[in-house]
Amino acid sequence: MQHGDMKPGDWRVGLDIGATKVLGAVVAADGTVIAQARQDTRPGADGVLASATAVLDSLTLRLDGALPPYIGIGVCGIVDRERGAVSHAVNLGIGGDWFPLAARLADRTGATVLIENDVNAATWGAHVLCGADDMAYLSVGTGLAAGFVLSGALRRGAHGAAAEIGHLPGNPDGPRCSCGQRGCLELSASGSTLAAAWPGDGSAPPAAALFAAAAAGNAGAVIIRDRFAAGLADAIRIAGLAVGPDAIIIGGGVANVGEPLLEAVTAALRAQAAGSPFLTALDLASRVSLLPGQAAAGAIGAALIGNA
Ligand SMILES: [Zn+2]
Repeated sequence: MQHGDMKPGDWRVGLDIGATKVLGAVVAADGTVIAQARQDTRPGADGVLASATAVLDSLTLRLDGALPPYIGIGVCGIVDRERGAVSHAVNLGIGGDWFPLAARLADRTGATVLIENDVNAATWGAHVLCGADDMAYLSVGTGLAAGFVLSGALRRGAHGAAAEIGHLPGNPDGPRCSCGQRGCLELSASGSTLAAAWPGDGSAPPAAALFAAAAAGNAGAVIIRDRFAAGLADAIRIAGLAVGPDAIIIGGGVANVGEPLLEAVTAALRAQAAGSPFLTALDLASRVSLLPGQAAAGAIGAALIGNA
């Protein structure tokens, strides 16, 4: 790989700490990944710390012992950036007590460590990779969350979590959501909903299995896929109408389905726009894309987000 005039002194480290794996990347200022490492995530605060440390050790080896002195972390849950702490990261086995992840990693590495909500980190990674200054990022994973970059700045929100677009109620007569409301968008447009409706046989992720079955003509799969695509199109329409972004980028585990997901969602957006000259003129479908560099966007964003 050619790094041009990118100097190691400008490199940063990003860690994307998810429920199943910790992905670490050494990143240049333009988002180029210099080195990567990953480990399975061990549960609980001490497990997360051990997994993150192991990833940093691998990266240090790959860089011949010299890790950049700046580490950014994207982690799920509620994040207090000032305290460098995380809580309520249910998928990581971190409960209601604040865990000072940044300070613990700073003690071990001697680096400056900043911590960020994982959806915000991925949003910033999408911004770096796509270059749009006004964009919405939709994370379609277990749940449905959003992040926004507006006029080139990350919209962090006031409470340490990303925009909870998944808990906008779209259908007041719909089923009860875990949040206590009825008919939330997340109930029709999330990976957990897809997995419940189409568990598959375990040989492939449920979303991939569903889209493959639908493409093969399975009528039940087509119905579930189209219902899901319509729900995701609702979320895109809300984000699009609320903030008018240039780009609407879909990431998260379900985005690994790839082009068939994009085709289903843009078809749903065009179906929703049919009969509305207003929506047709906005042409939201033309602004939707899949997150490029999907696997590393969270780590790239965590590395580069700084105090953006
Ligand atoms: Zn809800």
